[in-house]
Amino acid sequence: MDVFTHFIIGASIGEIAPKDIKNRHAIGAGFAILPDITNVIFVHPYLGWLAGHTIPFAVSQDFINHPEILQHWTYQIWLFSHGFIFWSLFVLPFWNKHRAAPLAIIAYLSHILMDLPSHTGVYGLQPFFPFPFIFDGWFDAWLWGPIEILLSVVAFTILFAIVRQTRIYWVWESEKSIEQESFV
Ligand SMILES: [Zn+2]
Repeated sequence: MDVFTHFIIGASIGEIAPKDIKNRHAIGAGFAILPDITNVIFVHPYLGWLAGHTIPFAVSQDFINHPEILQHWTYQIWLFSHGFIFWSLFVLPFWNKHRAAPLAIIAYLSHILMDLPSHTGVYGLQPFFPFPFIFDGWFDAWLWGPIEILLSVVAFTILFAIVRQTRIYWVWESEKSIEQESFV
């Protein structure tokens, strides 16, 4: 998905998280966009250079014009960062390390789950990378223009609002004790 949609989904997961976790929306949003850091620092600069842009940063069309990117180590790192094996080995083990860790770990997972349906064909995710099974998604969010991105942002902002409403009734144990303390 586009970075804005990932951001809002992450913030929604932060909204679900217990309120005593400080900056829970920012943590959710930050970890939901984190997997694409491999895109920003590896794939796009290399592909932009390959495509001969003055500013070496790729646009979507460059992926179509340069399918050789699929074999390049920069793209392989991106695939690895978007797989369940990477997530299980390097993200999930932190679950008990910090109060906010489960939120961060689930937000990271949300990125992979959202990117699975939104990349098709040879540009599909390889969810068990380095095992070369390509998941053929349903649509290509990475080819989206501003209109599609805007529609997605609006849709997921509505979802955020629904989650926020639901949270009035959905209270974690730790939040109950906070409420009781404030009565004292
Ligand atoms: Zn991604």
